[in-house]
Amino acid sequence: MDFSFTREQDAFRQEVQEFLGRELPAENLRHYEDGWITGFSRSFSRKLGARGWIGLTWPTRYGGQARGPIERLVLTEALLRAGAPVAAHWIGDRQVGPSLLAHGSEEHKAFFLPRITRGEIVFCIGMSEPAAGSDAAALQTLAIEDGDGWVIRGQKAWTSFAHQADYCYLVARSDPAAPKHKGISEFVVDMRTPGIIVRPLIDMVGEHHFNEVFFDDVRIPASGLIGQKHRGWYQIASQLDFERGGIERVLSNYPLFRDAVEHARRQGLTRDPRLRDRLARLSVELAVGRLLVYRVAWLLSAGKVPTWETALSKRFGTELEQEIAEVVLSLFGITGLLMPGAPGAPLDGRPARAVLYAPAYTIQGGTGNILRNILAIRGLGLPAD
Ligand SMILES: Cc1cc2nc3c(=O)[nH]c(=O)nc-3n(C[C@H](O)[C@H](O)[C@H](O)COP(=O)(O)OP(=O)(O)OC[C@H]3O[C@@H](n4cnc5c(N)ncnc54)[C@H](O)[C@@H]3O)c2cc1C
Repeated sequence: MDFSFTREQDAFRQEVQEFLGRELPAENLRHYEDGWITGFSRSFSRKLGARGWIGLTWPTRYGGQARGPIERLVLTEALLRAGAPVAAHWIGDRQVGPSLLAHGSEEHKAFFLPRITRGEIVFCIGMSEPAAGSDAAALQTLAIEDGDGWVIRGQKAWTSFAHQADYCYLVARSDPAAPKHKGISEFVVDMRTPGIIVRPLIDMVGEHHFNEVFFDDVRIPASGLIGQKHRGWYQIASQLDFERGGIERVLSNYPLFRDAVEHARRQGLTRDPRLRDRLARLSVELAVGRLLVYRVAWLLSAGKVPTWETALSKRFGTELEQEIAEVVLSLFGITGLLMPGAPGAPLDGRPARAVLYAPAYTIQGGTGNILRNILAIRGLGLPAD
């Protein structure tokens, strides 16, 4: 097996790193951890769009560059390692664009894709509800066909970026009489439509990046339907694989790990063999997690459809991200608990923030238990019940 990159891929990584070296400090945009969740900068996304670095793999007629999944991974890896603020375009680039390419009409593609690639529009995903998380097919939000459009009625929960988004990629129940997997459809909803109410949810860190969203008889045009009516559940499966298989599931805490190791070295802490051992183990696991994600991209490049492989990379990577937070916190003793902004907080409070944010890694995008189920059933072929 050949693990090396092509000369063009190496040159591309170099180009991205040079760009980041120039742009991040110049605009004071370095964001450290979770740049794809909390690093929200429309202006930085537009800069990436101007370079052609959003929708990198999409056809050129829709504003893409028709490059391969490995190149996209080279790019996203460099962005996250550098702590770049990429949240404004992440969902559009990662899953909405590919979903529209797979299921959207020509009109949808021509309208939305070039705008996503230019970094002009922000999407949120309206899937989870208060009583439908892991069991997404239990969702109750209604899409009622009405004349030449649809009326949306219901509530979504945990909707990241709903307070900043221009559009919501919404999953709703279009046929309440059908068995639960068979009466679901997908829609794109303009977030400025009357009747949409967005209320903030503040997480344990004290940050606001997700919300609850109420749809109070929101009227959308017939063109809001994406793909086939009532077939939304079958469209969702590949979208979840896009959502789960990326490098953000391994590297969200990488900047913290890198800076904490550097700090430990400077303080002479790495003379302790037990600590050296823990840090070495995390380094090895980061390398393994990265290879699991490269395997997903390699499968896509080969025209294959990864399923359990994305579950494996997310499960492995997100548990590792939690472990990184814990090990880093332990490096600093009691002062590690000081939050960002507190006097004397090591690494400006990032260890404490990381530990408080960490539970989210194995919940968002599908819990660790659900991923284990997928691994057992689709990966190992074990019986489903
Ligand atoms: C930071 C963050 C951002 C998010 N952003 C979005 C977003 O933008 N859009 C969106 O739609 N959703 C979003 N979510 C929601 C997320 O997808 C759900 O939280 C997740 O799917 C779990 O659903 P739940 O919270 O209802 O937990 P539940 O499904 O109620 O699960 C509770 C517990 O039961 C376990 N469990 C449930 N079913 C099974 C089973 N069959 N087998 C074994 N164990 C099981 C779970 O593993 C978990 O431990 C976000 C969540 C977080 C934390």
